[in-house]
Amino acid sequence: MTNIHQHYTFIKILTGSDLSKRRMPAMTLESDKKGPVVWLTGCMHGDEIGGTVIIHEVFKRLKKSLLKGKVHAFPLMNPFGFEAISRNIVLSKEDLNRSFPGNENGTLAERIASKILSLILQTKPDLVIDLHNDWNKSIPYAVLDRSDNERVDQKILEIAGASGMIQIEETDRIHSTLTYNLIRNNVPAFVLELGESFIINEKNIEIGIRSIWNILEHLKMVENTEAPYRYPSLEHLPDHPLQYSALPLSSSSGIVRFLKKPGDLVSKGAKLAKVCNAFGKQVELITALSDGIVLGHTDNALAYPGSPVMAFGLTSKK
Ligand SMILES: [Zn+2]
Repeated sequence: MTNIHQHYTFIKILTGSDLSKRRMPAMTLESDKKGPVVWLTGCMHGDEIGGTVIIHEVFKRLKKSLLKGKVHAFPLMNPFGFEAISRNIVLSKEDLNRSFPGNENGTLAERIASKILSLILQTKPDLVIDLHNDWNKSIPYAVLDRSDNERVDQKILEIAGASGMIQIEETDRIHSTLTYNLIRNNVPAFVLELGESFIINEKNIEIGIRSIWNILEHLKMVENTEAPYRYPSLEHLPDHPLQYSALPLSSSSGIVRFLKKPGDLVSKGAKLAKVCNAFGKQVELITALSDGIVLGHTDNALAYPGSPVMAFGLTSKK
């Protein structure tokens, strides 16, 4: 029988003009048996609160069942955005996940980013999972960055494979995210997108918990008492990561009427959506450029020339 130690604390961010202390919660569960060090991070974007709840639930379960190693979490990395239900840090209007690696003398977001990254790196983690939420109508999926380090890439593929999630490869390398900067420091890291922002969708919370549990079981840190989670249509998809695409864009203005749902498998040429003008007349039929799976619908029912309509994981190269 191993002992599990719990340590919940706060990381100081700033002192407000009213002298209030602004802090970021930090959680750690540690088994007295040595093992992997895993981080879960949530609410980087203040309106994406699903990850915070998933962290709470995973920790409740881990308190009874962590077999070895340590699990750390920052459940609420952007308390300013969280309180204002805003993606960004409201005081400075910055996107925290475009502010890494950060700078302790830089902007507010860069100062917070620098603190987050250095505290995570100090613990010499084996894995970091950054939890996000996507469009209102979207399915859960894992987003993988590619690095130039084959060992790290292999580890990310292995662990993302154990997650049971659809794996999507980021096509644009964004150098200012937490995961990119962890990978640059040779720490395996990836993002889980877990459905809609703003609200708690219990179904997606459960998927997030089960997927993380798969990963912890893969690392032999817990036991799975139920069948491992697998996204239902995973068997119909290729076993390599799918390329992300938000194409085709709309070429006309009007109201979008979707003809395919998130999670639908589509073939090249399939009818995806129609755009109708103010009289209700169809002005455009948007069709799939290649085979893939619909990841989500945009939050905006209004199209204009150049606006995205849907996002896809492409199952065949264009
Ligand atoms: Zn996000």
